[in-house]
Amino acid sequence: MNTDAHQVLIIGSGPAGLTAAIYAARAQMSPVVFEGIESGGQLYSTTDVENFPGFPQGIKGPELMELMRKQAERFGTRLIPRSVVRVDFLERPFKVWTDDEQVHRSHTVIIATGSSHKWLGLDSEERLRGHGVSACATCDGYFFRGKDIVVVGGGDSAMEEALFLARLGSKVTVIHRRNQFRASKIMGDRVMSHPRIGMKWNSVVEEVLGDETNGVTGARVRDVVTGETVVVQCAGFFVAIGRKPNTEIFEGILDIDRSGYLVTKPGSTHTSIDGVFACGEVQDKTYRQAITSAGSGAMAAMDAEEWLEVFGFF
Ligand code: NDP
Repeated sequence: MNTDAHQVLIIGSGPAGLTAAIYAARAQMSPVVFEGIESGGQLYSTTDVENFPGFPQGIKGPELMELMRKQAERFGTRLIPRSVVRVDFLERPFKVWTDDEQVHRSHTVIIATGSSHKWLGLDSEERLRGHGVSACATCDGYFFRGKDIVVVGGGDSAMEEALFLARLGSKVTVIHRRNQFRASKIMGDRVMSHPRIGMKWNSVVEEVLGDETNGVTGARVRDVVTGETVVVQCAGFFVAIGRKPNTEIFEGILDIDRSGYLVTKPGSTHTSIDGVFACGEVQDKTYRQAITSAGSGAMAAMDAEEWLEVFGFF
């Protein structure tokens, strides 16, 4: 046994990575977490989290992540504010390189690198994020009860977001850049027949209107066929143009599905390489919630613990 090697390295510090760390630390695996550029993951840029059990009044995303970090550290997790830039899973112990050119060895690795929302790339969108601009209807839709809402996108995510938001808002306008959905027919039909959802086809958003004090007030939208520009009024502006799992450094190393997600064996967190586990949104295109990510983080730590036990590293 290589005594220089860690028992478990965890890549990513969102709910999945930190929950894996809490479980691994409590199982005496002395976990090391590489926090990445965005310590705390997506929740660090979320305002109120009202659906994480245990916080009846809600909690700010950054505060929730700070509590998870503290809990992980309390049991002996080492948090390193570095990003992983390269991995070698061919030889054991595995090797992981961080952006300060250090190499770290470990018998198991838990990947919790999450996924990133795609954004339109407008300055106004960036400025008003958290002030009416969001990419998560389940997280933020509740704030726009009884108000007008815009959803951008034409895939299944946009349909799902629009249908969810139509339960809360007074009116939802879906803005799509073409005259045909990419979404499945059944989802598209549901949106089209919904009494509180309207469509703006062949349209692109040029600017999100509003300010940080009053929030979003509307969107300036251009019809790409006629060139005409109109303002669609709204208080909530949801971007649903797809997600990108953060798997670049694992390409050609681990099995990745056609949508770009790491493949895990059904009902577990095992990836295509024994001893490498994946949890949270990097392997989940269905649920994508902080609580489900945390749950799969716990699973990954337990799977890693079992693996270390079976192969005599404990
Ligand atoms: P998709 O890639 O399927 O759709 C993205 C949509 O956003 C497309 O309509 C695309 O337009 C549009 N878009 C992309 N970039 C831009 C841009 N820069 N400006 C404006 N519009 C843009 O992503 P989804 O997240 O919707 O879905 C991902 C996968 O997850 C799919 O396989 C989907 O079926 C699945 N899924 C399934 C669900 C379900 O079954 N309940 C729910 C959610 C997702 P264009 O069409 O012109 O390319």
